[in-house]
Amino acid sequence: MVSAVRRPIIAGNWKMNTTVAEATDLARQVRAAVASHPDYHTEVVLCPPFLSLSAVAAAVEDAPIGVGAQNCYPADSGAYTGEVSAAMLVGLCQYVIVGHSERRGYFGEDNAFVQQKAAHALAHGLTPIVCVGESLEHYEAGTGAAFVTAQITGSLHDLSADAVGSLVIAYEPIWAIGTGHAATAADANTMIGAIRATVADTWGAAAAGRVRIQYGGSVAAANAATLLAEPEIDGALVGGASLKADEFAAIIAAAEVSLP
Ligand code: PEP
Repeated sequence: MVSAVRRPIIAGNWKMNTTVAEATDLARQVRAAVASHPDYHTEVVLCPPFLSLSAVAAAVEDAPIGVGAQNCYPADSGAYTGEVSAAMLVGLCQYVIVGHSERRGYFGEDNAFVQQKAAHALAHGLTPIVCVGESLEHYEAGTGAAFVTAQITGSLHDLSADAVGSLVIAYEPIWAIGTGHAATAADANTMIGAIRATVADTWGAAAAGRVRIQYGGSVAAANAATLLAEPEIDGALVGGASLKADEFAAIIAAAEVSLP
């Protein structure tokens, strides 16, 4: 059962998929699926590629669906060819994913850089979805919790307790992303509990009680209800399954079923 105090949040990370036309169509399909459940309490966020932010924002206008970017660069403007700042995202979206393991892995982004991005997003009124997660090596060595909690303190250091309480953390074990092998609900709940305990130790109990922590990694319609039944798991960051409107809608429905 998800928390009674933290509103569940299901976010779709479309990664480098969808043309503008495809993204518009997918957003419209999700909108239609959500529209048939006006009583839903779960927060829904779509994170298309930068190019489609404007079209997706228009497609979900006046619907109870948020929009997020998948990345930002931590400077307002300047000679950073190919980058997009949080300042440029204002008005197009409310959320921005930072520190996704694909960016940490393929583009060498470390905790200090992720922290700069999170602070930059917050400074522009956007809510960062800060991703953390251990590799298969750490998982197998039993060092996953130590690695992930160090990612939390490193990626959020110098942020205020109020800021940390306001953001979203996504716990995404790298070995579970795109593999079809999600963490067990019990393991995900334990790791998210460890993350929340780290937030409590560093930023205090109020921030730990507020911060929403998602699980991500091969979440699908078939396993969502089991994962979201855990008390520490406040939602899901969904990759592959978010590209199919009916599958994504089923995950949102699973969050609703898990409400207290
Ligand atoms: C992700 O990359 O954020 C993710 C969770 O992907 P998938 O759901 O495809 O494992």
